[in-house]
Amino acid sequence: MIIGIIGSGAMGAGIAQVAATAGHTVRLLDQTEAALARAQQSIQANLRKLAEKGKLTGAAVEAAVARVQPTRDYLDFSDCGLVLEAIVENLDAKQQLFRQIESTVSAECVLASNTSSLSITSLAAACQHPERFIGIHFFNPAPLMQLVEVIPAVQTRPGLANEIKQLLHAWGKVPVLAQDTPGFIVNRVARPFYGEAIRLLEEGLADAATIDWATTELGGFRMGPFALMDFIGHDVNYRVTESVFTSFFYDPRYKPSFTQKRLLEAGYLGRKSGRGFYNYQ
Ligand code: NAD
Repeated sequence: MIIGIIGSGAMGAGIAQVAATAGHTVRLLDQTEAALARAQQSIQANLRKLAEKGKLTGAAVEAAVARVQPTRDYLDFSDCGLVLEAIVENLDAKQQLFRQIESTVSAECVLASNTSSLSITSLAAACQHPERFIGIHFFNPAPLMQLVEVIPAVQTRPGLANEIKQLLHAWGKVPVLAQDTPGFIVNRVARPFYGEAIRLLEEGLADAATIDWATTELGGFRMGPFALMDFIGHDVNYRVTESVFTSFFYDPRYKPSFTQKRLLEAGYLGRKSGRGFYNYQ
């Protein structure tokens, strides 16, 4: 099956790598040549690192790299069996995208979103055939993180979630079925983790490095909240919090923070821009 991926940022490139390594031809679409070139470089570098560690042969790396075909043309999705989007976390942008691509894919093609927080049912509602729509939520970095949430919309045809779970098993992932509620499982649990960490910082209880140190060294977390937000990107993380907050009818437990909003406004997006809570330059 040929896989189409829209958005070649952190997630789109990672998912393309996973699918290509599993043997699929991947059509990877973005708005700019520069974004596509960055994605290809990152996929190549990641796969070569795996080869250096002896986890893949050189030939397997070259074959996987060659299976990722960059494109800027939706018509290249006409023979895809699954098209998954990983563009900006914005309902209008994603709905508009699905309205546009639905006319270029085959009747059998499954449409999916990697959204972290938006309603899968609202995204499906933008489609003429919402029964073929589903949420497939990978975690960052997609090649390393095994968990994938599979989220059927209200309109999704029975059986599709199981087909997607089987596909994900074949890709070496561990799929879990989640209900279509804001943030699904992991991003809902994670909101108070980030929010409370920022509140500790704002109250002057400790600095970011100390809070990260305490949660990792003493708390056993793999990454501290500030290092993790910098890794995810404040644009993505803030929008997810905003979306969970509004979707839960402004429940104060999920309230976004001004501190993070200011980082976003300053363009301090975290690792990807060279600066966030920490300075990476
Ligand atoms: P990113 O900013 O790294 O990449 C987004 C890419 O989409 C960019 O390359 C951009 O040029 C492209 N794009 C934007 N609009 C487009 C359009 N209309 N058509 C084609 N390309 C377009 O973002 P990301 O971190 O990869 O996140 C993408 C999606 O995945 C979001 O919905 C996010 O919530 C979700 N997600 C992110 C993470 C994370 O940790 N970053 C984890 C899981 C899910």
